[in-house]
Formats: sequence, C-alpha cells, structure tokens
Amino acid sequence: MSTRVIAVLPGDGIGPEVTAEAVRVLTAVADLYGFKLHTEHYGIGAAGVAEDGSALPERTRAGVLEVEAILLGAVGSPALANAAGNRRPEAGLLALRRLLGAYANLRPVTMHSALRHVSPLRPERLEGVNLLIVRELTGGLYYGEPRGRDDHEAVNTLRYSVAEIERVARVAFQSARERRGLVTSVDKANVLEVSQLWRDTVTRVSAEYPDVGLEHLYVDYAAMRLVSDPASFDVLLTENLFGDILSDEAAVLTGSLGLLPSASLGEGPGLFEPVHGSAPDIAGRGVANPIGAIASAAMLLRYGLGLNEAAEAVEHAIDAVLQAGARTPDLATAGERTLGTVEIGSEIARLVLYGGAVQPAL
Ligand code: NAD
Repeated sequence: MSTRVIAVLPGDGIGPEVTAEAVRVLTAVADLYGFKLHTEHYGIGAAGVAEDGSALPERTRAGVLEVEAILLGAVGSPALANAAGNRRPEAGLLALRRLLGAYANLRPVTMHSALRHVSPLRPERLEGVNLLIVRELTGGLYYGEPRGRDDHEAVNTLRYSVAEIERVARVAFQSARERRGLVTSVDKANVLEVSQLWRDTVTRVSAEYPDVGLEHLYVDYAAMRLVSDPASFDVLLTENLFGDILSDEAAVLTGSLGLLPSASLGEGPGLFEPVHGSAPDIAGRGVANPIGAIASAAMLLRYGLGLNEAAEAVEHAIDAVLQAGARTPDLATAGERTLGTVEIGSEIARLVLYGGAVQPAL
C-alpha cells in the first residue's frame, strides 16, 4: 500500500474546525482508493506566533517543503490585528506562498443547482456559471519594492516582469484548453504601464495556444460583467490585486464564501485552502461551513496527488449532500433546519466511502 504525505496547517479561528473535516474526507478517500494518508500538522498565523513567536515558524518552513501537498485552514486573529512584521498572522500566509513559489492561484466558481436561491443574483443570471479565476499570486502591488510609510505619505510599488506574466498566463491557457477554451485577461491597460506589459505578454503567449480564444477586459468592466453576465466567463486571468478583489466578488455569486476552494501552484508543493478567512465571529461554535475546505481537499487530490477520480468522488459527494438539503447556517434561509460543521463533514466522508452507493441520510 502506498503512503501519500501531506502537511496540514489548520491556522486560526474556524481553520482547525474546517480542516478537520477536510482531513476526515481525505481519510475516507484513502480507504476507498487503497492508499495510506500520512498527515503532518504544523502551525501558521496566530497559531504559529503562539508556537515560536513567528506567523510562519521555522518548523513549518522546513516541514512544508518535505510533503506532496499542503492543506491550509485560515489565518487571522483579532488579538493580533495590529501586530507588526512576522507576528502578523496574514504575513505568515504571504511568506508561505513566497516560500513555495506558488505563483498561480486557481479559484473555481461553480453553481450548485440546489443553492441558486441563496445567491443575491436572480436565478436566470446564474444559468451556466462555471468559471475559473487564475490569479497571479507572488508579484504585483502586494510584493512590490520599495514600500513604506511616514507621517506624510505611503508608497507601494506595482511591478511585474515578462517572465512572471508568461508563467501564470500559461497556467490559464492550459486550464482553458481542458475546459471551454476561452481566456479573459483582465487589466487596466488604459491607465497603467504594467497592464500594457501584461496585455502584450498575454497576447504573445496566446500564440502558443491557437485552440484557445483570448479576450482582454478592463478591470472595471470585468467587475460589472461578473454580476451582469457571469456565465460568459470560462477562465479569468488577472494579476494579484485585481484577482483578490474579483475572486471575492465572484464568491458572492455562489451564495456563501464558505463554499469556495482554491489551489496555489508553482515551484514547490501545491497549497490548497478555502477562500474564506478565520471568521472570528463564528469560530469555536461548530457552525462553520466546511465545504470550501473539503472542496480544497478535492483540488489537493487532483493537482497535488494526481488523483482525478478521487477528486471527482469528493465533488459528487458535496453535490449530493447539498441536493439532500444539508445546510450550515450561512446557506440556510429563514426557518430551514441547519447542521453543524462535523455533521456535514461526516456525511460527505460517508458518501465518499460508499462510493455513491448510498443516499445522503440528512
Ligand atoms: P472571513 O472570510 O473570515 O469572514 C467573512 C464573513 O464570512 C464572516 O461573517 C464569516 O462568519 C463568514 N464566513 C467565512 N467563512 C465561513 C464559513 N466557512 N462558514 C460560514 N461562514 C463563513 O473574512 P474577514 O472577517 O474579513 O476576516 C477575518 C480574519 O481572516 C482577518 O484576520 C483576515 O485577515 C483573515 N483572512 C484570512 C484569509 C486566509 O487565511 N486566506 C482570507 C481572508 C481573510
């Protein structure tokens, strides 16, 4: 029996609650597909600061480079909201992405048919929504130097190299080739030189993929079209800051931030995490939606371990549980019965284990 080794970084707030359910589902997958899952747990965020004073402890830095893939919960703590330097929980996540060279962030946004009524958009606008956001993750404004602040002004720098744009563009074109064959590249080329370089480079890379269509949109128009005609997107490619904002906007289409997974891929092991944060307002109550974390585990199976069939089994189990009416409070409408984090996770794991041979019991 083969052993697959992953790192689990539960992090803060609801992070430990939702990653526990993702691990429960991965364990069921291992049982079904006949491999042994070995998990190593490491601290990050406020949990890392409690461990050795740093949001990305030395033990974590060393450990994550030794595994096949990394599952992360979320970072962030109100107690450390004003912490500086490497004691800021969010700094641990940025440092981890940089350590892994994780330059391409993949965020699929799919509509579960059972949840159309939860979305703020009218149901007819949601017909056929199935898009993948490919966000550049280790460059742009968040990492630009010089940066700084004094009493009179503050400076951040937006910078991209041709090589940084090319490698993330290739991820987008490759993904589109396996989907509906359209890349929409988003920039602000009417104002920013960096965006003009982005547009020229993406256009040049597109010549390597003659079977994939390419369109360019300005970010302001892209933000409008995401809510007016979201089904028109297949793969949306963009830089770090625009991607951060547009992916949260796209998350709203589905009805809850708690549903969405992500994968961050690059030079080292892939990093898989739900899109949401540590949600301190609901942490510790057992009501967090674990589906974003479980769907991230499905992406871990697909991109991190190369187990496509297992990934699909998890995605089908998520769909079946939602179809059966299982809802954490973030998805429930008034009067609907709700379930807790562990109940939803356990039911998805049970469906995975029995390979769809049983109906959801919820
Ligand atoms: P958040 O995503 O933590 O929460 C936003 C809202 O969505 C809250 O009302 C929360 O209760 C709800 N929510 C989020 N995930 C949910 C889930 N799984 N189930 C049910 N409801 C859920 O964003 P925030 O409140 O802006 O940030 C809280 C902390 O998380 C901050 O410290 C922030 O920096 C951090 N953060 C971390 C990440 C990350 O780890 N990748 C991402 C975003 C925010």
